[in-house]
Amino acid sequence: MDFSSKLLENAVNEMSQLPGIGKRTALRLVLHLLKQPKTQAIALSESIKELREDINFCSNCHNISDVKVCEICSNPNRTKNIVCVVEDIRDVMAIENTSQYRGHYHVLGGKISPMDGIGPSELTIQSLVDKVREGVVDELIFALSSTLEGDTTNFYIFKQLEKYPITITTIARGISVGDELEYADEVTLGRSILHRIPFENSLKNN
Ligand SMILES: [Zn+2]
Repeated sequence: MDFSSKLLENAVNEMSQLPGIGKRTALRLVLHLLKQPKTQAIALSESIKELREDINFCSNCHNISDVKVCEICSNPNRTKNIVCVVEDIRDVMAIENTSQYRGHYHVLGGKISPMDGIGPSELTIQSLVDKVREGVVDELIFALSSTLEGDTTNFYIFKQLEKYPITITTIARGISVGDELEYADEVTLGRSILHRIPFENSLKNN
């Protein structure tokens, strides 16, 4: 692509770093920003800057939060000894939308995926193990998507925690294999949490 302006070229190059955005789409978006009032484009760039500089992760569950301990973890009406293990904030949002769950979460920050160079130490697994060892957890609910990476991650965590006297369950598979939680409808996802099954049973079924 030949640009008549270096400024335009830089903006297109930066924009095309985003997932799913090719050079042509990036150019369309950049031209759109040029047509908008200047304040709007500046507000966008400021919000990205603030997001990157000030973002905080809850010290308890590792979810994205503006405060040190997130609203869910600091809510006295939530059951802190039931912990739902999820991949990221999108899963927390999906489960919260069902209004069927009143426990806490533990956000792993991804799934074990050797192909992508993500091992257990890249995730917040150690912090979860520490939490269990401290005795604050009675039940862990695995709610990772049912993909090879999700199953590998569940199994790894299960092995780390086998010796502790806690119940480990997994959400019922109303959600079909390979589905991401965030795309499940609220009723299906809500039911699959209510009808969760012991994790060991899910291993026998596979
Ligand atoms: Zn939290």
